[in-house]
Amino acid sequence: MNTWIEEFKTAVKNVEELESILGTKISKTNYPLFIPKNFLNKIIAKGSNSALWKQFIPDISENLEFGSLDPIGDQKFQVTKNLIHRYPNRALFLPTTTCPIICRYCFRKNELYDNQTFKQNLDETLTYLTAHPEIEEIIFTGGDPLILSNEKIENYFEAFSKIPTIKYIRFHSRTPVILPSRIDNGLIEVLNKFKKNFKQIVLMIHINHCDEIDHDLIQAIQLLRSNQIMIFSQTVLLKDVNDHAETLSNLFHELGNHGVIPYYLHHPDEAAGTKHFYLSLESGRKIYHQLRKSLPGWLIPTYIYDVPGGHGKVPAFNPENTHFSGEVISLSGEMIKLKSPEV
Ligand SMILES: *Cc1c(COP(=O)(O)O)cnc(C)c1O
Ligand code: SF4
Repeated sequence: MNTWIEEFKTAVKNVEELESILGTKISKTNYPLFIPKNFLNKIIAKGSNSALWKQFIPDISENLEFGSLDPIGDQKFQVTKNLIHRYPNRALFLPTTTCPIICRYCFRKNELYDNQTFKQNLDETLTYLTAHPEIEEIIFTGGDPLILSNEKIENYFEAFSKIPTIKYIRFHSRTPVILPSRIDNGLIEVLNKFKKNFKQIVLMIHINHCDEIDHDLIQAIQLLRSNQIMIFSQTVLLKDVNDHAETLSNLFHELGNHGVIPYYLHHPDEAAGTKHFYLSLESGRKIYHQLRKSLPGWLIPTYIYDVPGGHGKVPAFNPENTHFSGEVISLSGEMIKLKSPEV
């Protein structure tokens, strides 16, 4: 069996097992637990005050009342069982609800992990894509799409190759960080077999802190880059994890050093169970503003905010003023007044 599948199958899944490995008490929360052991060793090595620990070890604050169950409201743009079509030219494809780890700050934490697998109805999705030639990009997300087997990924590529209007394939994934051995030769073969059918295959690695970068990840990145996969990163701004300009600047420098371009810095979504990770837009703007001092422009990601209620993503940065007026501009150009006074 592949090492990454073995690692996935033997992950720590309950508090008792985690307590016995860590030798310390762990809070019981309303949310499940899932940490592959190899990655758990990396967390342990960084210690209980580290950014890794805070992101993945359950905390009692998850039980605090906060936010909403579907903070970004993208469910209303669901057009088939596994397709979300909000922006005209690109669509999210959700082939799985499974992830390589459970991130305690996850904005989908109230929708995932109910053990439902998406009902596969690829025909319905292909029919929709054929009827909507304006969709030129398929964004594999989830869950985490790199948890799918090479055979499944190959089948999806085969299917999307038959729709001539699909130019770009994109993956949003945390797997390279958590299970770097997932970037195996079989995956590279599938990517190489299909890359001529698309203009570009792009990978967005979800990564939040320098401590997540190690030799294993760098090797995975090098393997992908040497096979012409474009790699960008997405980072979620999280209180007490990376909410300092210096922390972010270190992360973005290090990514740049390995050929990964920082793409988005996400303001956290107000998802139930994530209160202890939340910070205001004004605090975020102050941090973001400082990045320009220490980073070249090409290593500064766009700071964005997903407007609750399904309004989509908007730039979160205001270069003139860190104060937030409470209004954002929608895709169609209207001003939307936000309900939440906190943002
Ligand atoms: C974020 C997102 C995308 C991708 O948007 P980009 O700005 O191209 O990264 C597409 N569809 C939905 C519904 C999204 O939330
Ligand atoms: S990998 Fe992504 S979707 Fe999965 S738990 Fe982490 S943040 Fe959520």
